[in-house]
This record gives sequence, C-alpha cells and structure tokens, in this order.
Amino acid sequence: MDERRFCDESNTTKAAVLRCHSCGEQQTYQLRWLVRQKKKHLSAGADEQARSRFAKFQSYMVLIDDAVVCANSRCRRRIEVSGMKTTAYLSD
Ligand SMILES: [Zn+2]
Repeated sequence: MDERRFCDESNTTKAAVLRCHSCGEQQTYQLRWLVRQKKKHLSAGADEQARSRFAKFQSYMVLIDDAVVCANSRCRRRIEVSGMKTTAYLSD
C-alpha cells in the first residue's frame, strides 16, 4: 500500500556540522530532508486495512542528501554524510 495516501510530502533543510576527511575543515551544511507529514484525515472510501495503518502511521522525515561537497574552495572533495540519523520521527 502506498504511504503517500497517508501523508503529504514536502522538503525541508536542516543544518548539520560535518568534517571533511581530506582537509579536516569543519563546516555547517544544509542537508535536504523529505518530510512525510501525516494527513489530518484519511481520504474517503478507505478500507479497514488502510484505516488501521493510517492510525499507526507517524509523521517522519528521511535524509535525501547522502553526501555534500566540501566548502573549502581548495578542497571540494565529497563528504559522505555518516554518523547521523537518516530517519527522524516527527511529533504531530
Ligand atoms: Zn575538504
């Protein structure tokens, strides 16, 4: 079943501090997240199964970016986004 029946999708950015392994520079980067915000009401005509899944559904967001480019203009290496949670549940 498609989760998008239960939520509205949007994008947001959140700041994260990342350190480049090549040059060691630590910078704040804006990472993109996909937000799946639970709908207020399930669409009409939903069956029992959909209603029960909807009741349990919790809004969450998933990290879209898995890497950024180092902000140091002499470096510009790829920095993998690691060591942080890539999914976060949201309280309604
Ligand atoms: Zn760097």
